[in-house]
This record gives sequence, C-alpha cells and structure tokens, in this order.
Amino acid sequence: MLTPSTILAGGRTVKTTLSDIICRTMPTAAVASGFCSQVDQTATVNAITDLLEFDSAARCGLPALRQLLEDRGLPASLTIARGVRQELIRRTAVRESRAVRPATKCIEVLPATKSSSHNSLTWTPNDEIPGEGVLVVDTVRSRTLYAVREFKTLWAGRAFKLDVIRGGTDPESESYDVLVAADPRQHQCDCKGFTYGRGKPCKHIAALAAVIENRWV
Ligand SMILES: [Zn+2]
Repeated sequence: MLTPSTILAGGRTVKTTLSDIICRTMPTAAVASGFCSQVDQTATVNAITDLLEFDSAARCGLPALRQLLEDRGLPASLTIARGVRQELIRRTAVRESRAVRPATKCIEVLPATKSSSHNSLTWTPNDEIPGEGVLVVDTVRSRTLYAVREFKTLWAGRAFKLDVIRGGTDPESESYDVLVAADPRQHQCDCKGFTYGRGKPCKHIAALAAVIENRWV
C-alpha cells in the first residue's frame, strides 16, 4: 500500500498543500492511511464516484462495490465505499428526475405539414399528476390549447384525452382521443385531420409523440 511518504517524491513537507496533492493524486491511499481529514474524504468520495458514475456494475451492494474498487486498484475503506455508494445513488436520482420531470414549460418544433410550414408545441406538465398537463399546438393559422389526460389502453402504446380549452380549427370537436402506438403505423386520433388524412399523423399525434419521445410524460 502506498503511503503519503512514498507519494511525496523528494520528501517535501509543504503542510498547506500536502493534503491537496495526496488527495488528488492518490485519494484512496491517502484516506486509508488516515492522512486526510473528513473534508478530504468528501473529495475522495467525489473523485472515485466521478470514475464510476456511468459504470452500471457500480450500482450494487456495499460488499460488491468494495470488491469492484479493489479489482480496479482502488482499495477503499468501508467509510469511503459507503460514501461512494450513497453519492452514486444521489447522482442517479438527480439525473433521472431531470430527465423525466421538466421544471417548467417545454417547447418543441414539430415537422412541417402540407397546410402549415411552421408548427410547434408547448408542454406544461401538471406537477401533481403524472400524465397530465396543458398542451399548446401552434400552426401557421391557429393556436389551440388542450388539457391533456392519459388513460389506460389495451392497445400497445399510450392513450390520451385532449380537451380543447381554447382555439381549435374544428368548431364541432371539443375533445379528441389519441393513441400514440408503439408501432407508428397504428397511431389513432378521432379528429377529421387524421380520419381523412390517409393514415398520416395529425397534429395531435405528432405533438403527443414528441412529448413522449422527450420523456415529458
Ligand atoms: Zn388528431
């Protein structure tokens, strides 16, 4: 095992930077030798976690994690290994919560269609209820607001009810049932655009497919 004295070539003893150098160059050994303080342990935990963060094998129990570190030439004390494990769990949770739950409004450009060259959607999630939110679809000619609610379906895919809050191009329709199917050829919407569109996705399907693809619901 390396000790601080073997790390410090030339035996310089500059007290103020000594711990910095050791903890940066040989963090595990420094902590194992009892050289580093609690503050340095945090730095060590972070340094090791940086190395392991995207390694799926590192998401394991404490004994297995210690073995994994040992195998990689990073023998860690129980305290350090425990810290690394907690930090890995914390970072994973932060990353997943960012990916799934947008904090505020999200905007996405939609493909151009025959009738509208510029289309976009704005999605504002309901923070309390998963699968619900307000969808705004903008085309060249119209802006429509929908209240969106997901409901269970037996089809392979995800189904949503869209209630028009404001706007809309079809005065006869106040709500639409939309299936964003696992197989894009099976998409369904009961709007006129889709019914007479020879299977081409309407703006409702396109918007909800984008919302799903972005993992906003
Ligand atoms: Zn539609």
